[in-house]
Amino acid sequence: MITDINNAGKNALNVLCLGSGPCAPQKNNDTAHYLINGSVLLDTGWATVQGLIDRDIDPLSFDTIVFTHFHPDHYMGLHSLIFYWLWKGRDLSKLRIAGPAENIEIIVRRAAEYWQDDCFRGIYPTLMPLNPGDNINLNGIHFACRRAPHPVPALSYRITAESAKSDIGFTGDTRHEPGQAEFFAGCGILFSEASCGASRNPDPSWGHMSAYQAGQLAAEASVGRLVLVHTGSPEISCAAAREYFANTEPAVVGAVYSV
Ligand SMILES: [Zn+2]
Ligand SMILES: [Zn+2]
Repeated sequence: MITDINNAGKNALNVLCLGSGPCAPQKNNDTAHYLINGSVLLDTGWATVQGLIDRDIDPLSFDTIVFTHFHPDHYMGLHSLIFYWLWKGRDLSKLRIAGPAENIEIIVRRAAEYWQDDCFRGIYPTLMPLNPGDNINLNGIHFACRRAPHPVPALSYRITAESAKSDIGFTGDTRHEPGQAEFFAGCGILFSEASCGASRNPDPSWGHMSAYQAGQLAAEASVGRLVLVHTGSPEISCAAAREYFANTEPAVVGAVYSV
């Protein structure tokens, strides 16, 4: 297992796991979020600035954030990241933020305006509203977007890069539904949420998946590896998912996943 993003080799896609936890922070583990190829942050967890610094990664070293959705466990870290950029004197307009089109503007505006002091000069990050079906290229990483059924507007992503051996999928927070397997078909790695753990019949209105459903999805999509995140009991969830998909593992914080 590679744990150093700087020594991830010549792979085309390298995903550093900065957190794997459920909606509430855990000891030494933030909510699920990732740094892709050192240049695109996918969600910010609660405290991404601290997590990056703890791993010797400069929070100014990337210029793009992509959000799956705007629930607090996925974007609270944006406030401290914006403050860090302002405090370091960086031009906030150079920070690109992509995410669900329905509410990206109000969320990012509020986060920027939270800093009512001299360092905030009314300059906002550059917004990239995303909709289901969109395909965008960010720093050489291609993102395909799919609607994720969740209580707030949310997106699942399938990413690839030139000369990558395969694609990587991220369910984000979502309930299980038909069509997901087609979207993630053949991904080398699928990061799936498993918020409902070893629940056989989770209430669909929660907008989350069980580990069984994550395993079913991985099997239907014929992915290479299933990596579970956003679960309070990773080992129990992995055992449940393996009923359907043997190559299931818990996400390891600090590990780099490459294709
Ligand atoms: Zn969440
Ligand atoms: Zn959520």
